[in-house]
Amino acid sequence: MHDLAARVDAFGRSQIRVMFDHAEAAAASGADLVRLEVGEPDFDTPAHVTEAAFEAARDGATDYTASVGIGPLRDAIADTLQTEYDLAYGPDQVVATTGGMEALHVATLTLVDPGESVFVPSPAWPNYEIHAALAGGHLESVELPYPYDLDADRLIDAMDDDTAAVVLTTPSNPTGRVYDPTPIRRVTAAAAEHDAYVIADEVYAGLTYDRDPTGIAALVDQPERVVTVGSLSKTHAMTGWRLGWLAAADPVVEGATRVREATTSCPAAPAQHAGVAALTGPAAPEARMYEAFRERRDYVAERLNGIDGVRAPRPEGAFYAFLDVADVTDSLAFARRLLEETGVVLAPGSGFGAGGEGRLRLSFANSLDRLEEGLDRLEAFLEEAEST
Ligand code: PLP
Repeated sequence: MHDLAARVDAFGRSQIRVMFDHAEAAAASGADLVRLEVGEPDFDTPAHVTEAAFEAARDGATDYTASVGIGPLRDAIADTLQTEYDLAYGPDQVVATTGGMEALHVATLTLVDPGESVFVPSPAWPNYEIHAALAGGHLESVELPYPYDLDADRLIDAMDDDTAAVVLTTPSNPTGRVYDPTPIRRVTAAAAEHDAYVIADEVYAGLTYDRDPTGIAALVDQPERVVTVGSLSKTHAMTGWRLGWLAAADPVVEGATRVREATTSCPAAPAQHAGVAALTGPAAPEARMYEAFRERRDYVAERLNGIDGVRAPRPEGAFYAFLDVADVTDSLAFARRLLEETGVVLAPGSGFGAGGEGRLRLSFANSLDRLEEGLDRLEAFLEEAEST
């Protein structure tokens, strides 16, 4: 019997999923939970978007499409990238993908040779490590100290000629930080010197609260060295539709197109039509979601400021606050105890790599009422721990 491929042993189970399983088990036994670990909008997909998919399917959009996606979708993505993020990609530089996740996977397969490294500032979203391992490469984490500013010097010092790519996620999951242009420019220039690429994970780019969103490729002197990844999941409440994109100059876009022919061939045809409606139809539903996230961000930032023993940088984007809780060294153990004793569910920071240990991610993709309840319980729990 053949063993599993070695690359499968290169990564373990996500601690976020482990926590999720604990929460599901507690919910099944009737616990009163406040679920603040979830990384997806608590809104429904806008009705006109769902309707567009139904209509398209009824009209026969049930076949394979071009592997880069249908023309109107690529046009709509290129227009959005230009108008919302100052990114100058033509439709022929856009590949529609099955979520931002597939775009990241395909970008990594396209750029990384076996034995090469992919750098990430840590804490980071855990799937980058798996994508690197699936490409035969490996992840190198560069830890960012609190409050998780992008430290260009540390990244640049760590890179070498075996570096194939650097992933920059801004706004960041899990820290909610939005990186400044200067370190982004420096890291991109250093990557270019090593003939490496920056994979710009901009799936949260539409959710920045304090400054206008700008794509990384629009900020740097080497835009041809940037692969831009985006998605409708977070900004349009479309996680289950699995629709995203990558945009890049040649030869990356041409290589990525060949790779993706063998991954999913194309995103589901009705989902692509839904994507066109999301990007070209009424914007009011997204604007309402955005305003709700901004209001919750303000609330969560203010509450966290007032809780003894907790510090967190004010979230500037996405829908996460990253809590540094005094005396926590094992974030999974803390998250489990918090769940058992208060019903509040947070994601353990250790799920985001070494740079996340000792911290906890709180998602504010939940109603203000539930956030208030969750933060009240967390505050009481920490006060009691302090007094005993
Ligand atoms: N990148 C980051 C940082 C994420 O947090 C996620 C999802 O949680 C993704 C990419 C992938 O999103 P999707 O595949 O739903 O577009």
